[in-house]
Amino acid sequence: MAFRRSAAKRQGLPSVVQLRLTPSPAQADALTAATRVCNEAATYVSRLAWLNHTFTVPELHRLAYYPVRAQVAGLGAQAAVRAIARVVGTYANRRATKNRAHVFRPHGAIPYDARLMSWCRDARTVSMWTPTGRVTVPYTGRPEDLKALDALPLGEADLICRRGAWLLQVTVTLPRPIVREPVNGFAGVDQGLANLAVTSDGAALPGPALAGPINGNGHVRTVRERRHRQRQRLQRKGTSAARRVLRRLAGRERRMMTDVNHQISKYVVREAERTGRGIALEDLRGIRGRVRAHRLQRRTLHNWAFAQHIAFTRYKAARAGVAFVLVDPAYTSQACPECGCISRANRPARGRFACTRCGLAGHADHIAARNIAARGAAGWAAVNQPHATGLPSARRDRESKPPASISGS
Ligand SMILES: [Zn+2]
Repeated sequence: MAFRRSAAKRQGLPSVVQLRLTPSPAQADALTAATRVCNEAATYVSRLAWLNHTFTVPELHRLAYYPVRAQVAGLGAQAAVRAIARVVGTYANRRATKNRAHVFRPHGAIPYDARLMSWCRDARTVSMWTPTGRVTVPYTGRPEDLKALDALPLGEADLICRRGAWLLQVTVTLPRPIVREPVNGFAGVDQGLANLAVTSDGAALPGPALAGPINGNGHVRTVRERRHRQRQRLQRKGTSAARRVLRRLAGRERRMMTDVNHQISKYVVREAERTGRGIALEDLRGIRGRVRAHRLQRRTLHNWAFAQHIAFTRYKAARAGVAFVLVDPAYTSQACPECGCISRANRPARGRFACTRCGLAGHADHIAARNIAARGAAGWAAVNQPHATGLPSARRDRESKPPASISGS
Protein backbone atom coordinates (compact mmCIF):
# COMPACT_ATOMS: atom_id res chain seq x y z
CA MET A 1 0.00 0.00 0.00
CA ALA A 2 2.82 2.34 0.91
CA PHE A 3 4.43 1.63 -2.43
CA ARG A 4 1.27 2.44 -4.29
CA ARG A 5 0.86 5.72 -2.46
CA SER A 6 4.37 6.86 -3.25
CA ALA A 7 3.93 5.79 -6.86
CA ALA A 8 0.78 7.88 -7.04
CA LYS A 9 2.64 10.83 -5.61
CA ARG A 10 5.36 10.58 -8.24
CA GLN A 11 2.73 10.66 -10.92
CA GLY A 12 1.17 13.85 -9.61
CA LEU A 13 0.87 16.80 -11.92
CA PRO A 14 2.71 20.02 -11.17
CA SER A 15 0.66 23.15 -11.31
CA VAL A 16 1.31 26.71 -10.18
CA VAL A 17 -0.73 28.89 -7.85
CA GLN A 18 -0.07 32.59 -7.49
CA LEU A 19 -0.21 34.40 -4.17
CA ARG A 20 0.01 38.10 -3.47
CA LEU A 21 2.30 38.98 -0.61
CA THR A 22 1.45 41.93 1.61
CA PRO A 23 4.77 42.87 3.21
CA SER A 24 5.28 45.87 5.47
CA PRO A 25 7.55 48.56 3.97
CA ALA A 26 10.51 47.19 5.96
CA GLN A 27 9.75 43.63 4.80
CA ALA A 28 9.44 44.84 1.19
CA ASP A 29 12.91 46.36 1.51
CA ALA A 30 14.22 43.02 2.78
CA LEU A 31 12.61 41.18 -0.15
CA THR A 32 14.12 43.69 -2.57
CA ALA A 33 17.52 43.02 -1.02
CA ALA A 34 16.97 39.26 -1.31
CA THR A 35 16.14 39.63 -5.01
CA ARG A 36 19.19 41.75 -5.67
CA VAL A 37 21.57 39.51 -3.70
CA CYS A 38 20.31 36.25 -5.24
CA ASN A 39 20.50 37.57 -8.79
CA GLU A 40 23.93 39.07 -8.21
CA ALA A 41 25.10 35.72 -6.84
CA ALA A 42 23.62 33.81 -9.77
CA THR A 43 25.28 36.12 -12.29
CA TYR A 44 28.63 35.73 -10.49
CA VAL A 45 28.31 31.93 -10.42
CA SER A 46 27.18 31.97 -14.04
CA ARG A 47 30.35 33.78 -15.10
CA LEU A 48 32.53 31.31 -13.18
CA ALA A 49 30.68 28.39 -14.77
CA TRP A 50 31.08 29.87 -18.23
CA LEU A 51 34.78 30.68 -17.87
CA ASN A 52 35.59 27.22 -16.53
CA HIS A 53 33.16 25.23 -18.68
CA THR A 54 31.70 23.79 -15.51
CA PHE A 55 28.03 22.98 -15.76
CA THR A 56 27.23 20.22 -13.26
CA VAL A 57 26.08 20.82 -9.70
CA PRO A 58 28.89 19.00 -7.81
CA GLU A 59 31.68 20.53 -9.91
CA LEU A 60 30.22 24.00 -9.86
CA HIS A 61 29.67 23.72 -6.11
CA ARG A 62 33.38 22.94 -5.60
CA LEU A 63 34.35 25.80 -7.86
CA ALA A 64 31.93 28.52 -6.82
CA TYR A 65 30.54 28.00 -3.34
CA TYR A 66 33.21 29.77 -1.29
CA PRO A 67 34.02 32.44 -3.89
CA VAL A 68 30.38 33.46 -4.25
CA ARG A 69 29.85 33.64 -0.50
CA ALA A 70 32.93 35.83 -0.21
CA GLN A 71 31.92 37.96 -3.15
CA VAL A 72 28.24 38.62 -2.38
CA ALA A 73 27.63 40.14 1.05
CA GLY A 74 24.60 38.77 2.89
CA LEU A 75 24.32 35.58 0.83
CA GLY A 76 23.54 32.69 3.16
CA ALA A 77 24.72 29.12 2.75
CA GLN A 78 21.42 27.84 1.39
CA ALA A 79 20.98 30.83 -0.92
CA ALA A 80 24.45 30.10 -2.34
CA VAL A 81 23.52 26.44 -2.91
CA ARG A 82 20.31 27.55 -4.60
CA ALA A 83 22.17 30.02 -6.86
CA ILE A 84 24.48 27.23 -8.04
CA ALA A 85 21.56 24.92 -8.81
CA ARG A 86 19.82 27.75 -10.64
CA VAL A 87 22.81 28.43 -12.87
CA VAL A 88 23.14 24.73 -13.72
CA GLY A 89 19.43 24.62 -14.59
CA THR A 90 19.72 27.68 -16.80
CA TYR A 91 22.64 26.31 -18.78
CA ALA A 92 21.11 22.84 -19.04
CA ASN A 93 18.75 24.09 -21.74
CA ARG A 94 20.60 26.89 -23.43
CA ARG A 95 24.34 26.35 -23.16
CA ALA A 96 24.69 25.27 -26.77
CA THR A 97 23.18 28.44 -28.16
CA LYS A 98 24.83 30.92 -25.85
CA ASN A 99 27.97 32.76 -26.83
CA ARG A 100 28.57 34.43 -23.50
CA ALA A 101 27.82 33.90 -19.81
CA HIS A 102 24.17 34.20 -18.86
CA VAL A 103 23.35 37.36 -16.91
CA PHE A 104 20.48 37.30 -14.40
CA ARG A 105 18.50 40.53 -14.33
CA PRO A 106 18.95 42.33 -10.97
CA HIS A 107 15.20 42.55 -10.38
CA GLY A 108 14.22 39.24 -11.99
CA ALA A 109 12.25 36.51 -10.21
CA ILE A 110 14.21 34.41 -7.71
CA PRO A 111 13.52 30.84 -6.62
CA TYR A 112 12.78 29.83 -3.03
CA ASP A 113 13.07 26.21 -2.01
CA ALA A 114 11.84 24.53 1.16
CA ARG A 115 14.97 25.53 3.10
CA LEU A 116 14.62 29.19 2.25
CA MET A 117 11.00 29.49 3.35
CA SER A 118 8.45 27.90 5.62
CA TRP A 119 4.70 28.04 5.56
CA CYS A 120 2.21 28.79 8.29
CA ARG A 121 -0.94 27.99 6.38
CA ASP A 122 -3.31 28.50 9.35
CA ALA A 123 -2.12 32.08 9.78
CA ARG A 124 -1.78 32.58 6.00
CA THR A 125 1.83 33.69 6.36
CA VAL A 126 5.09 32.54 4.83
CA SER A 127 8.49 32.97 6.48
CA MET A 128 11.12 33.85 3.89
CA TRP A 129 14.87 34.14 3.93
CA THR A 130 16.36 37.59 3.27
CA PRO A 131 19.94 38.88 3.68
CA THR A 132 18.81 40.72 6.83
CA GLY A 133 17.09 37.75 8.42
CA ARG A 134 13.82 35.91 7.97
CA VAL A 135 10.63 37.91 7.42
CA THR A 136 7.15 36.54 8.07
CA VAL A 137 4.92 37.92 5.35
CA PRO A 138 1.11 37.61 5.08
CA TYR A 139 -0.34 36.46 1.78
CA THR A 140 -3.67 36.55 -0.03
CA GLY A 141 -4.90 34.95 -3.22
CA ARG A 142 -7.88 33.77 -5.18
CA PRO A 143 -10.11 31.43 -3.11
CA GLU A 144 -9.37 28.44 -5.38
CA ASP A 145 -5.62 29.07 -5.13
CA LEU A 146 -5.76 29.33 -1.33
CA LYS A 147 -7.75 26.10 -1.23
CA ALA A 148 -5.16 24.34 -3.40
CA LEU A 149 -2.39 25.72 -1.21
CA ASP A 150 -4.06 24.38 1.94
CA ALA A 151 -4.70 20.93 0.55
CA LEU A 152 -1.78 19.98 -1.69
CA PRO A 153 1.94 19.24 -1.31
CA LEU A 154 3.94 22.42 -1.94
CA GLY A 155 7.10 22.62 -4.00
CA GLU A 156 9.42 25.46 -4.89
CA ALA A 157 8.27 29.02 -5.33
CA ASP A 158 9.34 32.03 -7.40
CA LEU A 159 9.39 35.45 -5.79
CA ILE A 160 8.48 38.15 -8.29
CA CYS A 161 8.13 41.90 -7.98
CA ARG A 162 5.83 43.11 -10.71
CA ARG A 163 5.03 46.82 -10.89
CA GLY A 164 5.51 47.20 -7.16
CA ALA A 165 3.39 44.16 -6.23
CA TRP A 166 5.09 41.17 -4.58
CA LEU A 167 3.94 37.85 -5.97
CA LEU A 168 4.82 34.31 -4.97
CA GLN A 169 4.23 31.63 -7.59
CA VAL A 170 4.15 28.28 -5.83
CA THR A 171 4.38 24.87 -7.48
CA VAL A 172 1.80 22.48 -6.08
CA THR A 173 1.39 18.80 -6.89
CA LEU A 174 -2.06 17.93 -8.15
CA PRO A 175 -3.13 14.33 -7.67
CA ARG A 176 -3.45 12.69 -11.05
CA PRO A 177 -7.07 11.76 -11.66
CA ILE A 178 -7.93 8.23 -12.68
CA VAL A 179 -8.05 7.95 -16.45
CA ARG A 180 -11.60 7.09 -17.52
CA GLU A 181 -12.35 4.37 -20.03
CA PRO A 182 -12.93 6.01 -23.45
CA VAL A 183 -16.40 4.47 -23.84
CA ASN A 184 -17.07 6.24 -27.15
CA GLY A 185 -13.71 5.53 -28.76
CA PHE A 186 -11.05 8.04 -29.71
CA ALA A 187 -10.83 11.47 -31.25
CA GLY A 188 -7.87 11.79 -33.60
CA VAL A 189 -5.97 15.01 -34.24
CA ASP A 190 -3.89 15.57 -37.37
CA GLN A 191 -1.19 18.21 -37.03
CA GLY A 192 -0.14 20.21 -40.04
CA LEU A 193 0.76 23.58 -41.39
CA ALA A 194 -2.15 24.57 -43.62
CA ASN A 195 -4.32 23.67 -40.66
CA LEU A 196 -2.39 23.45 -37.41
CA ALA A 197 -4.78 20.76 -36.23
CA VAL A 198 -7.77 18.96 -37.75
CA THR A 199 -9.87 16.62 -35.63
CA SER A 200 -11.53 13.40 -36.74
CA ASP A 201 -14.83 15.25 -36.20
CA GLY A 202 -13.76 17.57 -39.01
CA ALA A 203 -13.00 20.68 -36.94
CA ALA A 204 -10.09 22.69 -38.39
CA LEU A 205 -8.12 24.50 -35.68
CA PRO A 206 -7.59 27.27 -34.99
CA GLY A 207 -11.01 28.00 -36.43
CA PRO A 208 -14.50 29.14 -35.48
CA ALA A 209 -14.63 26.42 -32.80
CA LEU A 210 -12.19 28.42 -30.71
CA ALA A 211 -13.42 31.52 -28.99
CA GLY A 212 -11.11 34.45 -28.39
CA PRO A 213 -8.85 36.66 -30.46
CA ILE A 214 -7.28 33.90 -32.54
CA ASN A 215 -10.08 32.26 -34.47
CA GLY A 216 -9.56 31.74 -38.15
CA ASN A 217 -6.36 29.92 -39.01
CA GLY A 218 -6.16 32.45 -41.82
CA HIS A 219 -5.08 35.03 -39.28
CA VAL A 220 -2.24 32.86 -37.95
CA ARG A 221 -1.10 32.07 -41.47
CA THR A 222 -1.19 35.70 -42.59
CA VAL A 223 0.90 36.72 -39.60
CA ARG A 224 3.35 33.89 -40.20
CA GLU A 225 3.75 34.77 -43.88
CA ARG A 226 4.24 38.44 -43.13
CA ARG A 227 6.89 37.53 -40.54
CA HIS A 228 8.57 35.23 -43.03
CA ARG A 229 8.98 38.03 -45.61
CA GLN A 230 10.13 40.41 -42.90
CA ARG A 231 12.71 37.84 -41.76
CA GLN A 232 14.10 37.36 -45.24
CA ARG A 233 14.48 41.10 -45.66
CA LEU A 234 16.34 41.39 -42.36
CA GLN A 235 18.54 38.38 -43.06
CA ARG A 236 19.65 39.94 -46.33
CA LYS A 237 20.54 43.09 -44.45
CA GLY A 238 22.68 41.18 -41.93
CA THR A 239 23.52 44.15 -39.70
CA SER A 240 23.63 43.74 -35.94
CA ALA A 241 20.51 45.88 -35.59
CA ALA A 242 18.75 43.57 -38.04
CA ARG A 243 19.85 40.56 -36.03
CA ARG A 244 18.40 42.13 -32.90
CA VAL A 245 15.06 42.64 -34.62
CA LEU A 246 15.16 39.04 -35.86
CA ARG A 247 15.58 37.77 -32.31
CA ARG A 248 12.64 39.85 -31.14
CA LEU A 249 10.45 38.57 -33.98
CA ALA A 250 11.35 34.97 -33.17
CA GLY A 251 10.27 35.52 -29.57
CA ARG A 252 7.00 37.07 -30.63
CA GLU A 253 6.19 34.25 -33.03
CA ARG A 254 7.02 31.68 -30.37
CA ARG A 255 4.64 33.35 -27.92
CA MET A 256 1.88 33.43 -30.51
CA MET A 257 2.30 29.73 -31.30
CA THR A 258 2.33 28.86 -27.60
CA ASP A 259 -0.93 30.72 -27.15
CA VAL A 260 -2.49 28.96 -30.14
CA ASN A 261 -1.30 25.56 -28.91
CA HIS A 262 -2.86 26.20 -25.49
CA GLN A 263 -6.17 27.05 -27.12
CA ILE A 264 -6.20 24.08 -29.49
CA SER A 265 -5.24 21.53 -26.83
CA LYS A 266 -7.80 22.97 -24.42
CA TYR A 267 -10.54 22.66 -27.03
CA VAL A 268 -9.58 19.10 -28.01
CA VAL A 269 -9.44 17.88 -24.41
CA ARG A 270 -12.76 19.53 -23.56
CA GLU A 271 -14.43 17.92 -26.58
CA ALA A 272 -13.03 14.48 -25.74
CA GLU A 273 -14.13 14.85 -22.13
CA ARG A 274 -17.62 15.97 -23.13
CA THR A 275 -18.12 13.06 -25.54
CA GLY A 276 -16.51 10.30 -23.46
CA ARG A 277 -13.60 9.69 -25.80
CA GLY A 278 -9.83 9.45 -25.59
CA ILE A 279 -7.38 11.47 -27.68
CA ALA A 280 -4.93 10.12 -30.25
CA LEU A 281 -2.05 12.10 -31.77
CA GLU A 282 0.80 11.13 -34.08
CA ASP A 283 4.05 10.25 -32.34
CA LEU A 284 6.59 12.60 -33.90
CA ARG A 285 9.62 11.27 -32.05
CA GLY A 286 11.96 9.14 -34.07
CA ILE A 287 10.47 10.17 -37.39
CA ARG A 288 13.68 11.80 -38.51
CA GLY A 289 15.78 9.23 -40.30
CA ARG A 290 13.17 6.49 -40.11
CA VAL A 291 10.76 7.58 -42.80
CA ARG A 292 12.70 9.75 -45.18
CA ALA A 293 11.13 13.19 -45.47
CA HIS A 294 8.00 12.49 -43.47
CA ARG A 295 5.33 15.01 -44.36
CA LEU A 296 5.65 16.82 -41.03
CA GLN A 297 9.39 17.16 -41.56
CA ARG A 298 8.88 18.79 -44.91
CA ARG A 299 6.72 21.45 -43.43
CA THR A 300 8.30 24.71 -42.50
CA LEU A 301 6.72 25.09 -39.08
CA HIS A 302 9.28 24.45 -36.39
CA ASN A 303 9.19 21.03 -34.85
CA TRP A 304 9.07 22.55 -31.40
CA ALA A 305 5.56 23.79 -32.11
CA PHE A 306 4.33 20.26 -32.88
CA ALA A 307 6.15 18.85 -29.86
CA GLN A 308 4.66 21.58 -27.69
CA HIS A 309 1.18 20.81 -28.96
CA ILE A 310 1.63 17.15 -28.01
CA ALA A 311 2.97 18.09 -24.57
CA PHE A 312 0.09 20.48 -23.86
CA THR A 313 -2.54 17.96 -24.97
CA ARG A 314 -0.97 15.17 -22.94
CA TYR A 315 -0.84 17.34 -19.82
CA LYS A 316 -4.38 18.69 -20.13
CA ALA A 317 -5.74 15.21 -20.89
CA ALA A 318 -4.03 13.77 -17.79
CA ARG A 319 -5.44 16.58 -15.68
CA ALA A 320 -8.95 15.85 -16.97
CA GLY A 321 -8.67 12.05 -16.69
CA VAL A 322 -8.95 11.67 -20.47
CA ALA A 323 -7.13 8.76 -22.14
CA PHE A 324 -4.21 9.85 -24.33
CA VAL A 325 -2.41 7.73 -26.91
CA LEU A 326 0.42 8.43 -29.37
CA VAL A 327 0.21 6.43 -32.58
CA ASP A 328 2.58 5.44 -35.38
CA PRO A 329 2.47 8.22 -37.99
CA ALA A 330 3.33 6.01 -40.99
CA TYR A 331 0.91 6.40 -43.92
CA THR A 332 -1.78 8.24 -41.95
CA SER A 333 -2.21 10.52 -44.94
CA GLN A 334 -2.40 7.77 -47.58
CA ALA A 335 -4.56 5.14 -45.88
CA CYS A 336 -8.30 4.82 -46.34
CA PRO A 337 -10.14 4.59 -43.00
CA GLU A 338 -13.05 2.73 -44.63
CA CYS A 339 -11.43 -0.05 -46.65
CA GLY A 340 -7.81 0.07 -45.44
CA CYS A 341 -6.30 0.65 -48.88
CA ILE A 342 -2.89 2.37 -48.62
CA SER A 343 -1.64 4.11 -51.73
CA ARG A 344 0.05 7.26 -52.87
CA ALA A 345 -2.65 7.41 -55.53
CA ASN A 346 -5.22 8.02 -52.79
CA ARG A 347 -3.97 11.62 -52.79
CA PRO A 348 -4.93 12.99 -56.21
CA ALA A 349 -4.33 16.63 -55.29
CA ARG A 350 -2.94 18.74 -52.53
CA GLY A 351 -5.30 18.66 -49.56
CA ARG A 352 -7.59 16.05 -51.18
CA PHE A 353 -8.11 12.40 -50.39
CA ALA A 354 -9.92 10.01 -52.74
CA CYS A 355 -9.66 6.26 -52.20
CA THR A 356 -8.82 4.44 -55.41
CA ARG A 357 -10.48 1.24 -54.16
CA CYS A 358 -13.74 2.25 -52.42
CA GLY A 359 -14.14 5.83 -53.58
CA LEU A 360 -14.19 7.45 -50.12
CA ALA A 361 -13.27 11.10 -50.65
CA GLY A 362 -12.70 14.07 -48.38
CA HIS A 363 -10.38 16.64 -46.91
CA ALA A 364 -6.96 14.99 -46.56
CA ASP A 365 -6.28 16.23 -43.00
CA HIS A 366 -9.72 15.09 -41.85
CA ILE A 367 -9.12 11.61 -43.31
CA ALA A 368 -5.70 11.50 -41.65
CA ALA A 369 -7.31 12.42 -38.32
CA ARG A 370 -9.80 9.54 -38.75
CA ASN A 371 -6.89 7.15 -39.31
CA ILE A 372 -5.16 8.50 -36.21
CA ALA A 373 -8.38 8.02 -34.19
CA ALA A 374 -8.70 4.42 -35.38
CA ARG A 375 -5.07 3.68 -34.50
CA GLY A 376 -5.62 5.28 -31.11
CA ALA A 377 -8.50 2.92 -30.38
CA ALA A 378 -6.50 -0.08 -31.61
CA GLY A 379 -3.44 0.92 -29.57
CA TRP A 380 -5.53 1.43 -26.47
CA ALA A 381 -7.21 -1.92 -26.82
CA ALA A 382 -3.84 -3.63 -27.34
CA VAL A 383 -2.39 -2.42 -24.03
CA ASN A 384 -5.60 -2.39 -22.00
CA GLN A 385 -6.97 -5.90 -22.35
CA PRO A 386 -9.34 -5.92 -19.36
CA HIS A 387 -8.46 -9.49 -18.35
CA ALA A 388 -4.82 -9.63 -19.35
CA THR A 389 -3.52 -8.85 -15.84
CA GLY A 390 -6.56 -9.67 -13.76
CA LEU A 391 -6.56 -6.09 -12.50
CA PRO A 392 -9.06 -3.45 -13.42
CA SER A 393 -7.18 -1.34 -15.90
CA ALA A 394 -6.69 1.74 -13.78
CA ARG A 395 -3.33 2.71 -15.22
CA ARG A 396 -4.15 3.43 -18.78
CA ASP A 397 -2.38 6.65 -19.43
CA ARG A 398 0.64 5.01 -20.98
CA GLU A 399 1.24 5.94 -24.57
CA SER A 400 1.15 3.01 -26.92
CA LYS A 401 1.88 1.98 -30.42
CA PRO A 402 -0.83 0.36 -32.47
CA PRO A 403 -0.32 -3.24 -33.60
CA ALA A 404 2.61 -3.35 -35.98
CA SER A 405 0.73 -4.36 -39.10
CA ILE A 406 -1.57 -2.02 -40.88
CA SER A 407 -4.50 -3.91 -42.33
CA GLY A 408 -4.88 -3.80 -46.08
CA SER A 409 -1.25 -3.16 -46.86
ZN1 LIG B 1 -11.17 3.01 -49.36
